[in-house]
Amino acid sequence: MSLGRRFLQALVLCVLASKALVASSASPTPTTIVLITVDTTRTDRMGFMGSHLGLTPSLDALARQSLVFSKAYAHVPLTTPSHATILTGTYPQFNHLGDLGAPLSKDLPDLPEILQKRGYRTAAFVGSQVLDPKSAAAPGFDRGFDIYDAGFHRRRSGEDRYSSEERRAATVVDHALAWLKGKARTTPFFLWIHVYDPHDPYDPPEPFKTKYVAAPYDGEIAYVDSALGRLFATLKAQGIYDRAIIAVVADHGEAFGEHGEESHGFFLYDETVHVPLLIKLPNERSAGRRVDARVGLVDVAPTLLEVAGIPAPVSMQGVSLVRWLTETDRTRERATESSDPGGDRRIYSETDYPHRSFGWSSLRSLRSGKYLYIDAPHRELYDEVADPEALHNLADTSNGVADTMHAQLDAFRHKTSGGATAAAPSLSPEQAEQLQALGYLTAASNSTGKEAIQKGADPKDKIQIANLLHHAVLATEEERYAEAVPLLQRVLKEEPMIALANLELGRSLNSLGDFAQALPWLHKAVELTPNSGRAHYELGVALGATGDWRASVVQLEAAVARAPDSDDLHFHLGMAYDELGQMPEAEKDFRDALRINPAHYRANLFLGRLLGMHNNPAAALTYLQRAVKLEPKSPDAHKFLANVYTELGREQEASRERDEAERLRRQVAP
Ligand SMILES: [Zn+2]
Repeated sequence: MSLGRRFLQALVLCVLASKALVASSASPTPTTIVLITVDTTRTDRMGFMGSHLGLTPSLDALARQSLVFSKAYAHVPLTTPSHATILTGTYPQFNHLGDLGAPLSKDLPDLPEILQKRGYRTAAFVGSQVLDPKSAAAPGFDRGFDIYDAGFHRRRSGEDRYSSEERRAATVVDHALAWLKGKARTTPFFLWIHVYDPHDPYDPPEPFKTKYVAAPYDGEIAYVDSALGRLFATLKAQGIYDRAIIAVVADHGEAFGEHGEESHGFFLYDETVHVPLLIKLPNERSAGRRVDARVGLVDVAPTLLEVAGIPAPVSMQGVSLVRWLTETDRTRERATESSDPGGDRRIYSETDYPHRSFGWSSLRSLRSGKYLYIDAPHRELYDEVADPEALHNLADTSNGVADTMHAQLDAFRHKTSGGATAAAPSLSPEQAEQLQALGYLTAASNSTGKEAIQKGADPKDKIQIANLLHHAVLATEEERYAEAVPLLQRVLKEEPMIALANLELGRSLNSLGDFAQALPWLHKAVELTPNSGRAHYELGVALGATGDWRASVVQLEAAVARAPDSDDLHFHLGMAYDELGQMPEAEKDFRDALRINPAHYRANLFLGRLLGMHNNPAAALTYLQRAVKLEPKSPDAHKFLANVYTELGREQEASRERDEAERLRRQVAP
């Protein structure tokens, strides 16, 4: 046998061995794929990653049948951009989803779409508004899905978080199981389940709330594990589990004060970038395997495709990790541009969050060899073997290594950038505000141009301010305004130009009834973000409440122009016109508010009152009756209704309503 022939034979054997592990593309029954993304999950809470807390029995059982990657990393520590990487197999600097507000471009490769074209049924069940394609955060994410179960909305005052902007893991799983019923047996499917619970605020339901009262984040992890356990049990009962590929991965971790960070998104250290990743292949082919080489979330989509026997498009930037099942002598692998000797992937990560939200510097990092390098105004270099917690910055003493890492990072970023969308999108004021409400604090100024990257203060020097603002925004979300005020005052003492802090301080003071105190902060917010409807609105409210209705109208008109679909804005503008005696304008805006939301109590009340006072009691009646129905305990509603009955000569009803108003007033005022 000639050498060439022998080589060919060896190659064929090698390919056959590899094929045996993955489904053949000619296979008559394509492989069902279940992708589970667990938000905000640290590796050190996972039993299969060495945790002794006992939080994850269901995931640990799955891990025993899976390929477990002990060193998997996110490329961006934020929910939406990280999920874009998972679904497209491309880096953030290529897919541009990190710019936020940009839609998932049709030019990007897309795991669900590829599978859909292969005859898969595809369904997504997500747990948060940040992955709702109808929100500003995730437009285009429903591409390739037959079903995309989202449908969230911004939480209104008094509304429960879990019935508006977020969904508990148990509900997400319930929705997925309802979809699964019946269809699963016949057609292969791709099911993506996203659970959001471990994201802050840490607030697990009972019995986890009581059991983990001292460690609510752990309680969220344990709760999520129990919900996923129910999913796995159903998959087993339906005969799907064994033959399916099941992948579990976190989009990023969470910091609890390491490097000064609370939450995630700001820094690129392991606490937020190192993530759990496990992949169960069909029929236990992966059982008990563990891979200690470094891999990235960009590799997830190409891996799932290869296991399913579908070639990954060349535009995917990740590589399939299936080779870790077939290679026996990994150490001989040559170093390539994206890998170190031994097959460790070089992991690039980035965050624009410090820049976008505060005007400070963006961060870029590269993990290569034993080093973690972070490009920042004061650059950082850590020996991850000797110093796994990244506590001793070697950049100043090991200049040569830092220079080499810097050059590698630049070359890598240059080579992997580009992609479908050339420029950062220009966010509309409404989009910017939506993103803000979703926790992607954006300074409404659109300064995310490429040239702006890396400029600004070093985030390391500013982390305490970011933490304060984070706590303050959480407090205002929960309507704990008195708690938010001193936090925001401290932020603004250090950084007076943060538009969001000015706005939130003014809004909190408004909510506490301190309208005069709110005025200077709201004037500043409007000055810094003249396109913000919310800033104009809050300023208009404060001006009206302090008696300057003429100035109030100007601000409220500006707010309505920027957000014409808001019932509250039209209502407040109507009130301001009413105060100025501009009745036709007032009536129009009250009617606009009711067109958007017929159940707006105060718009019904004041439109009824307005019509009643202007000789149209018959028209007024409908609105006041509705106001009483909406708020039966309001003395005002009964009093206005009584007046209208009197006008109409219906004295008996008038007297009944007057008595009720009087009775309620006595109850309220002792
Ligand atoms: Zn997340």
